[in-house]
Amino acid sequence: MANAEQHSAVRLRGLSKHFGDVVAVDAIDLEVGAGEFFALLGPSGSGKTTTLRLIAGFELPTSGSIELAGHDISGQPPFERDVNTVFQDYALFPHMTVAANVEYGLKVKRVPKRDRARRVEEALASVRLEGYGGRKPSQLSGGQRQRVALARALVNRPSVLLLDEPLGALDRKLREDMQVELKHLQQRAGITFIFVTHDQGEALSMSDRLAVFHEGRVQQVGTPSEIYEQPANEFVAGFVGTANLLRDGTDLVTVRPERIRLAAPSNGDDGARGVVEYVQYLGAVTRYRVRTGEWSSLVVEVPNADGSAALQVGDTVDLAWSGTDRQRVGSAPA
Ligand code: ATP
Repeated sequence: MANAEQHSAVRLRGLSKHFGDVVAVDAIDLEVGAGEFFALLGPSGSGKTTTLRLIAGFELPTSGSIELAGHDISGQPPFERDVNTVFQDYALFPHMTVAANVEYGLKVKRVPKRDRARRVEEALASVRLEGYGGRKPSQLSGGQRQRVALARALVNRPSVLLLDEPLGALDRKLREDMQVELKHLQQRAGITFIFVTHDQGEALSMSDRLAVFHEGRVQQVGTPSEIYEQPANEFVAGFVGTANLLRDGTDLVTVRPERIRLAAPSNGDDGARGVVEYVQYLGAVTRYRVRTGEWSSLVVEVPNADGSAALQVGDTVDLAWSGTDRQRVGSAPA
């Protein structure tokens, strides 16, 4: 597509979707660049899935527009849009073989029969499922089924792939493996991925940029480090990672738990003294909640490798953090 380079892969302008009285998506503006891995992150009910379904064409907007590579597709039916969707439950046809499931997408797009077998083989190879074409979905593991769903979505070589919590049904270890694999697949294929998740760790670790949703609105768009280090508002600071929110005069500031040390403050440090309220051993780190007079409670994370003695509930402790680790909430452009 000649103009794919000049235009964003996807551009949403003033996009809204109402279901009766419910405003699921509230006048959002969003641009996703060609080849980006872009996450839509937010709690349940924040409008992520509805936004994805609007891009796919399964829902029509109440107002606003959707552009794909510079063309307004707001009124187009799903099958005319150059996008494909991978659903959380994979939506594989149980009675059809893996190869037939993948081929189905090609039939819908009227790809000639002589080209289909090769395209199916290529798609299965791209998700490391060579030789599995003859099996039924019931004869596969959860992770393999997930990859069949990916192959089926990729076989049409869409310019944009939409993924709705695609790893949600997998157990934790498999989910972590698939996160890495999905990222590699996206880089190899060079396709724009728009990925819905409510898991902030997943969004931060996988995406080039992400949009944080709350109550149908986009709260902030940025790279993972921008979102984490410079949250635009209190919601983002609280939802993305654990943040200590401190009121400093009229300013709201955050200090991340891993930036606080168990030590008396020295030059240039801020600090507090408090009493340990609870202790959570998390493997790589131990997390403490410390009640202080000045700041109410602070969450502190200390690496377990550093040899410091474990604290007990009720211990009195000094806390210190450097002035540069205080981040004013809202100082980043939203
Ligand atoms: P989840 O992570 O739980 O999927 P989400 O962020 O994807 O949440 P949406 O599914 O987009 O959120 O829902 C946004 C709001 O719109 C919710 O209040 C939801 O109840 C409502 N909603 C979504 N689809 C419909 C529908 N078909 N009819 C009525 N209300 C709907």
